[in-house]
Amino acid sequence: MKPFGAESELRIDDLHASVGGQEILRGLTLSVRSGEVHAVMGPNGSGKSTLSHVVAGRPGYTVTGGSVTLDGVDLLALEPWQRAQAGLFLALQYPTEVPGVRMGEVLAESVRASGGDVAGVAARIEAEALRIGLDPRLLQRAVNVDLSGGEKKRNETVQLAVLQPRIAVLDEIDSGLDVDALRAVARRVEAATTEFGLGVLAITHYNRLLGELHADHVHVLVKGRLVAEGGPDLAERVEADGYAAFAEV
Ligand code: ADP
Ligand code: MG
Repeated sequence: MKPFGAESELRIDDLHASVGGQEILRGLTLSVRSGEVHAVMGPNGSGKSTLSHVVAGRPGYTVTGGSVTLDGVDLLALEPWQRAQAGLFLALQYPTEVPGVRMGEVLAESVRASGGDVAGVAARIEAEALRIGLDPRLLQRAVNVDLSGGEKKRNETVQLAVLQPRIAVLDEIDSGLDVDALRAVARRVEAATTEFGLGVLAITHYNRLLGELHADHVHVLVKGRLVAEGGPDLAERVEADGYAAFAEV
């Protein structure tokens, strides 16, 4: 593992991936470095969740070309838990419910697996929950079971803050959040970019996330390919003109 404070880079190079025999990602190239916030915006069905699932190693996706590396390590050759150990964190569009397992146990195990200090984990979880406006008592429940959509997203954000990964892929972290929760989550993620140098790949189809989580780089995904790149103004253009204005390539 790289020493704390060292620069990290997630490199996605000419990635092709298919699901159910259909090619969904058709040559996608993108790099995220420590401290940067990249937004990938795209219409429904453009391949946003496919991208996050392929990077995280979810079963059912076939990579047919290209590479994904984190600090030179070939992530595609690793099991999902090894990718997490390598410093990758994925917040799912639909967080998984894990009956019978409390979040404190999951986090303690993850911290232990990556050689961290387990002793302070409970206190850190509680502090992070309070910071993001999540009742710490909810964390005594099984992971994500009986939590509202907004609570699940806050819960994911607590995990991210405690685990301190190098790179986080956030798949529609804004979905199901009211404006206060969106602000709390976005601010926590943004603070992480300076607190521990987190690099962020934020996937969304709305500009509203980017009003709170300020992206340095915006990419537009249409039919499995990035068709436009720019700064925050590009997100505003998407909002104004819609995705139809971005021609397929
Ligand atoms: P987005 O997150 O951008 O809305 P997805 O990555 O979820 O898009 O889906 C991209 C395309 O892949 C869609 O056309 C979707 O129907 C298809 N797809 C996703 N999962 C499967 C699957 N398991 N089997 C077949 N097609 C799938
Ligand atoms: Mg999706």
